[in-house]
Amino acid sequence: MLHCGDTLTCVTDPRTDELRDRLQRVRQRIETACAATGRLDRPELIVVTKYFPAADVQRLYQLGVRQVGENKDQEAAAKAAHTAIMTAGLNWHFIGQLQSNKAKSVARYASAVHSVDRSKLITALSKAADQALQEGQRTAPLDCLIQVDLREPGVDDGRGGAVPAKVEELAAQIAEATGLQLKGLMAVAPLGEPAEPAFDRLQQLASSLRGAHPEAHWISAGMSQDLEAAVASGATHLRIGRDVLGSRPYPG
Ligand SMILES: *Cc1c(COP(=O)(O)O)cnc(C)c1O
Repeated sequence: MLHCGDTLTCVTDPRTDELRDRLQRVRQRIETACAATGRLDRPELIVVTKYFPAADVQRLYQLGVRQVGENKDQEAAAKAAHTAIMTAGLNWHFIGQLQSNKAKSVARYASAVHSVDRSKLITALSKAADQALQEGQRTAPLDCLIQVDLREPGVDDGRGGAVPAKVEELAAQIAEATGLQLKGLMAVAPLGEPAEPAFDRLQQLASSLRGAHPEAHWISAGMSQDLEAAVASGATHLRIGRDVLGSRPYPG
């Protein structure tokens, strides 16, 4: 396939050039990290577009990106609606903390939710995905990852996630729910702790999950600052924001 990034005849702008360069550098980092650990497979790059305009999503699409991540429903829903006609085959990954009352909205545009961390949310997502399937707003089940809290017990940094002891129970609930497809685990490296041992714990949890659910083989880990650690610990999906788009106008 020919992408805008491959051809001189493509109409472009300075922001597209910037995104192309930054994307290229991140892809190179992934290659280097894979080579350093002898990995032959390549993790999927999800470009996190939160706080950046729909126009950047469109530019990224022109550059060949087909996986984008967002952490707030209102923002994601608006961008997905705005870009829908121009971005066939683009997959929206919901990666932020999610209230059950937003499930209905998310099930309309998201291909995957990485931040499933409680039973009530699974019930809401299942109902919402069923309804979206029936109404033709989606054609495939909603992929679900269980977000795991990798902090040492007793430290609260507000990043969410289920405690490791809950993973099996939540996995069973997702596996039995209609409209949902269990895909694997997701985590954010705990603040103030080296990322690699935390991601190693995630990898172990993922491997025992696969024992009961072989289809749940995704490991979503790694942000701009800990991409290499995530690659070394077997991440299948990396969620990279600022190193592709630049620093965000607001914290988040
Ligand atoms: C914002 C965000 C990312 C991307 O972080 P960067 O530091 O911008 O690469 C990844 N995962 C989650 C859950 C996020 O909220």
